[in-house]
Amino acid sequence: MSEVRSTCPYCGVGCGVILTPDGEGLSVRGDPDHPANRGRLCSKGSALAETVGAEGRLLAPRIGGHETDWDTALDRVADRFAATIAEHGPDSVAFYASGQMLTEDYYVANKFMKGFVGTANIDTNSRLCMASTVAGHKRAFGTDTVPGTYEDLDQADLVVLVGSNLAWCHPVLHQRVLAAKAARGTKIIVVDPRRTATCDGADLHLPLHIGSDVALFNALLREIAETGAFDPGYVDRVDGLEAALAAARTDSLEPTGLAPDLVDRFFRLWIGTDKVVTVFSQGVNQSSSGTDKVNAILNCHLATGRIGKPGQGPLSVTGQPNAMGGREVGGLSNTLACHLDIEVPAHRAAVAEFWDAPRLASAPGLKAVEMFRAVASGRIKALWIMHTNPAATLPEADAVRAAIAACDFTVVSDITADTDTARLADVLLPAAAWAEKDGTVTNSDRTISRQRAALAGPGRARPDWWHVAQVARRMGHKAAFDYDGPAEIFREHAALSGIAGGFGRDFDISALADLSDGAYADLAPTRWPVAAKRGGRFFADGRSFHADGRMRMVPVTWRAPAAKHEPRFPFRLNTGRVRDHWHTMTRTGRSARLSAHLAEPFVEIHPCDAARLGIAADTLVDLSAPTGRAILRATVTDAVQPGTLFAPMHWTGETAPSGRIDALVAGATDPVSGQPESKASVCAARPFAA
Ligand code: SF4
Repeated sequence: MSEVRSTCPYCGVGCGVILTPDGEGLSVRGDPDHPANRGRLCSKGSALAETVGAEGRLLAPRIGGHETDWDTALDRVADRFAATIAEHGPDSVAFYASGQMLTEDYYVANKFMKGFVGTANIDTNSRLCMASTVAGHKRAFGTDTVPGTYEDLDQADLVVLVGSNLAWCHPVLHQRVLAAKAARGTKIIVVDPRRTATCDGADLHLPLHIGSDVALFNALLREIAETGAFDPGYVDRVDGLEAALAAARTDSLEPTGLAPDLVDRFFRLWIGTDKVVTVFSQGVNQSSSGTDKVNAILNCHLATGRIGKPGQGPLSVTGQPNAMGGREVGGLSNTLACHLDIEVPAHRAAVAEFWDAPRLASAPGLKAVEMFRAVASGRIKALWIMHTNPAATLPEADAVRAAIAACDFTVVSDITADTDTARLADVLLPAAAWAEKDGTVTNSDRTISRQRAALAGPGRARPDWWHVAQVARRMGHKAAFDYDGPAEIFREHAALSGIAGGFGRDFDISALADLSDGAYADLAPTRWPVAAKRGGRFFADGRSFHADGRMRMVPVTWRAPAAKHEPRFPFRLNTGRVRDHWHTMTRTGRSARLSAHLAEPFVEIHPCDAARLGIAADTLVDLSAPTGRAILRATVTDAVQPGTLFAPMHWTGETAPSGRIDALVAGATDPVSGQPESKASVCAARPFAA
């Protein structure tokens, strides 16, 4: 086979790759023509070829741990779902999806649950990633619209990175920012409680206290007002300025703990630079005040009119390769396909008519944390989990694992049987992996790219859309799920987006609804809105997607993290990614090169705390929290602040205690977005005694 252009399956940068099949393997290099990376790859992308192959793969369906054929497994899933719905109603079943899924897979799963099962109990691990940004965008703009693009990073004079270790978590974007710094002297400010690798290339680091971002950006808004830095022409088109400013005036900088001279330099740079891009990521989103943090940032951009123009605007960067595609198909339990609203009757009616859906869900469903609590309580009796490992990665992971184990019926679609969650499944369905399946993904700047197959899937692995369509057909919905491949699904999704466009929604790719199979196969990276009604840019004209067309500033005030310190749990625990691993390492763990970077789970602890507790560098630390325990290797470093700890999220473990840090993360969530607070739990630390 000749070269195949595809997309990296890891982070939301969405780098283009060129795959060259070589027997049962392949070689991988960066695609010089892809607009996201222009040929660059990071360590994870460069090692993709080391992660393919049949070793460790789930090769056939299994029921109760025993291999079976597809028909038997699919019949079992369809029968159990149908029986559960018949006896307990549609809200007794749930689907937990993933930002690893391709848009076509995601679309079919949402259509199945929301349109044909009749429940919105379909949520996704993107709830842990981007839900606060979605909610913040909708409050400000009326839709979940990412205003910025990657080109803005090339054109900015100041890039502010908030809650983002871009150097490790989105390395190719970080390289792009550093290239802008070299080419045009772009200043870089990092706002992060930790001193991370991203700080190495920065002009200024603001080590604020965990969870205090709203206090910082409210202070910036006050300074914008006091220095007369408003854009009067723009704020004329924005509602809520006075209310947002009044709320900001009730806040103070005290929660940030920042030295006044650092804050002053930040203010002078931000206010004194027209071309400012504020990039934000999980440090903003994964918070019990995540939505308010997003709006505090958006407020400053709206007040100064710095949005939608070259080199200016807020830019959220997603963790996963297709968090954006999931948002487009309505992958969250409180959204509908194509950025339509599940709460709006006219939107529901249009989708029901388009799908010819017999029982479209009429209200939002359960969000991730509450979904697994409903599994624990027995409200959810049948559960389908696709390409994600909630038994290891959801907050209160021990309780989630116990809930899945006790669920009446659990289906897992995955590429391996060797995850904490797959081991609990009643039925396991073997999935095609990256480089074996076809579809599209959308990256953080709204660019839709193709993932293409270059290898045959091993054993009886099949693509995810096929798993869902086969079950739906067995449940009596043959016509609606009679797809012959991802191109047909893409066309349907694109056609539905035209209806959304008719309602004035932002997501409109209807110009692609008539793509032939060949044109779909050749589809080049394409940023939406495809029709480019607004020249491919949003909001420079001050028009929003609210019914009145006006933008909104949202009054917000600082709130402390939900988990309160108590004498037994004196540390604030921050979690995150390392450079060379991805999620629970089902793929990156196969590369010795990637595993060599950081070989085991660790906890960063400040030297003063380590000395006080008698914890020596490289010894084992016993961490405990109200919800669980973990044992990690000590990294003694002043990169973290006294009284705080940092631990990576990637390691799992069959038996507690292990490096499975989400066992310690509390299940507190943002009241607007439902996103859990993964970076501000409380815990205790002591030397490990075997
Ligand atoms: Fe893949 Fe992200 Fe690295 Fe690009 S930056 S190669 S998308 S992991």
